[in-house]
Amino acid sequence: MKNTGLKIASLGSGSSGNATLISSGKTLLLLDCGFALKEIVARCAELSVSLQRLDGVLVTHEHSDHVRGLGPLVRKYAIPLWITHGTYRSLRDSKIGPVNLINAHESFDIGDIHIVPFPTPHDAAESCQFVFSTPNARFACVTDLGVPTAHITSTIADCDALLVESNYDEKMLRQGPYPPSLQARIRSDFGHLGNEQAGDLVRRVDSSRLETVLLGHLSEKNNAPDVARDTVARYIERSERLTVLEQHSVSEWFSVSRDDRLHVPDTDHESLITTA
Ligand SMILES: [Zn+2]
Ligand SMILES: [Zn+2]
Repeated sequence: MKNTGLKIASLGSGSSGNATLISSGKTLLLLDCGFALKEIVARCAELSVSLQRLDGVLVTHEHSDHVRGLGPLVRKYAIPLWITHGTYRSLRDSKIGPVNLINAHESFDIGDIHIVPFPTPHDAAESCQFVFSTPNARFACVTDLGVPTAHITSTIADCDALLVESNYDEKMLRQGPYPPSLQARIRSDFGHLGNEQAGDLVRRVDSSRLETVLLGHLSEKNNAPDVARDTVARYIERSERLTVLEQHSVSEWFSVSRDDRLHVPDTDHESLITTA
């Protein structure tokens, strides 16, 4: 059996919309759908990906920056959905169709991708995040959490790639436009990770394996890409592996593989793409 890796691309990341593509070459998944369907279609087209090829959508929680286009997407394309019971109930969308309800402590597979969910402390009904793995790659998304719990740090410990939340710079948040109550909510253990917390979390992950660090979910009001990058870079040894994801544009595909000789073959990946 071929040991495939993973490829990851962000369709956009930030406080006003989040969506990420994860591909094994054989299986293509969408993590969250926080843009209107038209925007999702347009952003996927920039990567030459057709939504008909999606094997599943996973949803982390019910906040609009993660589910804005979800209902229209699953209805139009009949894409299977994986979601916790609490998030499903909170969508209040009776027409969302059949769903795969998940337990945030039980792993499952979609195609050839193994998925380990983990609960996140956040001001949502039953939020979670995921580790995606193939025999040759492990990628974790860690956004929308107020604090990394011990369970989270151990679950993501040996990942090759991380998408980690770097939501705010403490000084910019303090001096920014948000009222004290909203600032407190963001800083709380059920809010978001700031730049310093992101750096500290990355530092705690096994650096012998970690090759790719994507900083995401930046606030456009309380953070700036260079501030986030510089802060997190202070915590890690090799800052060249850091990429700050953007809210308004699609990223490149990031290859994740434990063995450089076994990157996801482009030919396999292109079989997921339609140019028509
Ligand atoms: Zn969010
Ligand atoms: Zn949220």
